[in-house]
Amino acid sequence: MLNAGHPEGSWYRASIDEPPRYPALDGDLRVDVAIVGGGYTGLGAALELTQKGVNVAVLEAAEIGSGASGRNGGQMHMGQRLDPETLEQMFGEDVARQFWDMAMDARHSLDALMADHGIECDVRNGLIHAWHKPRFEADDRAYANFVQSRYGYNKLSLLSRDAVNAELGTDVYHGGLFDAGGGHLHPLKLAIGMAKAAAGKGAQLFERSQVVRVEDGATPVLHTANGRVTCDTVLLCGNGYMEGLSEAIDSHVMPINNFILTTAPLKDNAILRSNYAAADSRFVVNYWRKTRDNRLLFGGGENYTPWFPKDIAGFVRRNMLKIYPQLADVEITHAWGGTLAITMSRAPFVRQLSPNIFVSAGYSGQGVVLAPYFGRLLARAVIGNARDVELLGRLPTPAFFGGRALRWPALVAGLSYYALRDRL
Ligand SMILES: Cc1cc2nc3c(=O)[nH]c(=O)nc-3n(C[C@H](O)[C@H](O)[C@H](O)COP(=O)(O)OP(=O)(O)OC[C@H]3O[C@@H](n4cnc5c(N)ncnc54)[C@H](O)[C@@H]3O)c2cc1C
Repeated sequence: MLNAGHPEGSWYRASIDEPPRYPALDGDLRVDVAIVGGGYTGLGAALELTQKGVNVAVLEAAEIGSGASGRNGGQMHMGQRLDPETLEQMFGEDVARQFWDMAMDARHSLDALMADHGIECDVRNGLIHAWHKPRFEADDRAYANFVQSRYGYNKLSLLSRDAVNAELGTDVYHGGLFDAGGGHLHPLKLAIGMAKAAAGKGAQLFERSQVVRVEDGATPVLHTANGRVTCDTVLLCGNGYMEGLSEAIDSHVMPINNFILTTAPLKDNAILRSNYAAADSRFVVNYWRKTRDNRLLFGGGENYTPWFPKDIAGFVRRNMLKIYPQLADVEITHAWGGTLAITMSRAPFVRQLSPNIFVSAGYSGQGVVLAPYFGRLLARAVIGNARDVELLGRLPTPAFFGGRALRWPALVAGLSYYALRDRL
């Protein structure tokens, strides 16, 4: 397992009060559904199931929200990871529309989740996609026209070079696309709020309870160091942190690390003057936004090793200064990394692995909106409505070259090539 544990050094953790803690599993337990992973996917599933009266246990190796869900950029991106035109070419217009509707429902469900359970997590709407090369204008123009004409999505507007740079407080971008449906939030507050809501409805949550083995069968058994959970169904929701638990997942889903810093509170408001989220068109994307207390929270840079760089702040700061050289003297107060998961096609890996085991993982950088919802879709499949899980199962996610053992070198070579193209 990569980099499990507390999100040491994260501004998110520093900016909240001590969250509720849950016990470690000790002894034997019998539940209807056992969920591996206390991030958005697992908690989304737990919440949906407990609301339907299903008896649920969530087993979290470290702490609730200590995976990607409590460490991410907090950016809410709209749509599926594969663009609608590609989906239409693959599956035809009707199915592509179902994927689009699903993604819109995911966004609405996130709003409803926060409202229904009183989860306050500093939401701010609006996201700018900034072009680091002029050629990205054509793609975004075509995308905006496509989703407006096909699906009536009218929240997108193209921004000129001057407009985008004035919004962002830089002069390096060539223009951009504004999405009023996107936005940003405090991701750890969301995870903690989801856990409280699930526990309040009766879900049993366990922390420091890593599942070391999954025994498949008519009544699967999950093993931790000090206990066992017997159940009817297992949901594997460990995303980038569950290496070694399932061969099928390991060959289709790959963990990668990404890094974030926060500055001291900024004194002037020229940077992100409307407080939108921003992300650029690089393959190794830079993404940034301001926190409630006016810090710049900037993510950029990734690596494909089982360890983080020694100097995360220096690693990310280099990327930040290319966009904001005026921040050269501003103090960096926090820097941290996290592990997310990707697939070969970048489509999520959502599958029924056996009659009693389901998985949802590999959202790339779009899990803030999609993961809580895909957790709910797994839950619905368990209680008899598998339509959306079956639809997601049609997305091609080929195994990585080299299979479970040799996929790392092939991936590093491939991703490094694309990262190099960012600089050309
Ligand atoms: C630095 C960074 C920035 C990101 N920025 C964005 C962004 O701005 N917008 C966006 O949409 N997405 C972003 N993402 C991706 C997003 O955070 C993830 O897609 C999402 O959080 C996935 O949620 P999850 O519940 O599936 O996984 P996680 O939140 O990673 O949760 C999985 C949990 O499972 C636990 N676990 C794993 N194996 C076991 C086991 N064997 N036993 C028990 N527990 C286990 C782990 O400890 C972990 O807590 C980012 C990710 C990172 C790392």
